[in-house]
Amino acid sequence: MDTRESLHWIRDRSSLDLGASPLEFVRKLPGPCALWLEGKDVNRTRALCTLLHGNEPSGCNAIWQFLKGGETPHTNALLIIASVRAAMTEPRFSYRMLPGQRDLNRCFRPPFDDSRGELALQILETISRHRPEALLDIHNTSGSGPAFGVSINGDQRHRALTSLFTNDLIVTDLRLGALMELSDDQQPTVTIECGGSRDPAADLVAGEGIYRFLCSEQVLESSAANSVTCYRNPLRLELAEGTRLCYSDAPDAPGDLVLSLRAEALNYGTLSPQEPIARLGPEGFSKLRVTGPSGTQPLEAHFEVRDGQLYSRAPTRLFMLTMRPEIALSDCLFYFMG
Ligand SMILES: [Zn+2]
Repeated sequence: MDTRESLHWIRDRSSLDLGASPLEFVRKLPGPCALWLEGKDVNRTRALCTLLHGNEPSGCNAIWQFLKGGETPHTNALLIIASVRAAMTEPRFSYRMLPGQRDLNRCFRPPFDDSRGELALQILETISRHRPEALLDIHNTSGSGPAFGVSINGDQRHRALTSLFTNDLIVTDLRLGALMELSDDQQPTVTIECGGSRDPAADLVAGEGIYRFLCSEQVLESSAANSVTCYRNPLRLELAEGTRLCYSDAPDAPGDLVLSLRAEALNYGTLSPQEPIARLGPEGFSKLRVTGPSGTQPLEAHFEVRDGQLYSRAPTRLFMLTMRPEIALSDCLFYFMG
């Protein structure tokens, strides 16, 4: 099923039925929406996109909270809520996209010739028509973890935007068709991963960050930008097809790679070379592969096996380690700094 959808314009916030919860609010939206809020300074506009992925609710929760508060933003605000249908398909907020559809956050480059491409193009045209001074795209990670930004540019302005939410910014040369790849001088753009979709902390990060983004006089110049650390081009730890991946704390749990049920804790702080990442089966190490922007890298340069356990060779940062085997197998187990 691949149904075409138009972006609905909502120009009058008083016409919105906010309901008693973010879920009720999203349920009453007619589909993908662009919501316009007039600011105190009507000559400037900031744009915010969220729910490109239907299972990542923190951005919607924060928008609902902001609208409920009734505050006027400092500049005009263009708020885009994208995958309403995927989000409202039962069980709610569980579908990244509907079955058979492309990932909307891979559709912001040609060809725009299917329903997701057309919606992405409408979003792009709407944003460029309003010439925002900055654009944020709000997401959640699939696993639990701290917030971080992702951008193609680590300059002062991108770090200032990131600092509204977190002090970690991943700067990537990878191009996948994501919205944040459109960042340019006119419109600095940052993706914010607020933390896991079920982490209460992620809602707090999104709520406070979005409030600062909409209500601050300046968002592109801030001394807080100096506290943001840039991580350039993290590498990926990928698993070979058919890898038997298991999440268990039982000492005899079978598999090529056995991760603890508490493995998401590795997403926080620095990983030391003394801290095991996973237990490996006899063939486990051979099932792993390290890839980066310039292709495959030698696994041994980054990881080693001691007593049947996988360790990093040097202190590193892990990002987005996932507890979902389908994501670990089809995408990657985690990102890390080489
Ligand atoms: Zn996402």
